[in-house]
Amino acid sequence: MSKVEDFLSKEEELEIIEAIRVAEKSTSGEIRVHIEKETSLDSIDRATEVFNTLKMHETKDSNGVLLYVAVKSKKFAICGDKGINEVVPHDFWETTKNTMENHFKNNNFKQGLVDGILKAGQQLKKYFPFDDNDMDELSNEISKG
Ligand code: CA
Ligand code: CA
Repeated sequence: MSKVEDFLSKEEELEIIEAIRVAEKSTSGEIRVHIEKETSLDSIDRATEVFNTLKMHETKDSNGVLLYVAVKSKKFAICGDKGINEVVPHDFWETTKNTMENHFKNNNFKQGLVDGILKAGQQLKKYFPFDDNDMDELSNEISKG
């Protein structure tokens, strides 16, 4: 159980990537997913580390968002860049987190991620609307640890 393929089928991965594509059609925010087996760190500390490793701070508006999951450790976190944190309320990610948690509890990682991504996109839209010059600044591929 060390590979992400054990947690998500190829089809499920494609559904997640599609959800990112859809979400990024309504916001300039850039959403990424990182999945790994386990971590001994606090989920948000590890998510921040991964965020940096993936160079997710390299967006024009500092509006990258990482959905981080450590499957075996049953941990997850949402890490947004500073451009987001500066403008959103402090409980901004709570509803997205709740959505994800409910699915994860039932071991439904794919649906938790898909719904989390779409929810994050809807929420970001208000603060970072999509504009016609938008670029896909960060890959939509799933990052695997
Ligand atoms: Ca974009
Ligand atoms: Ca993207």
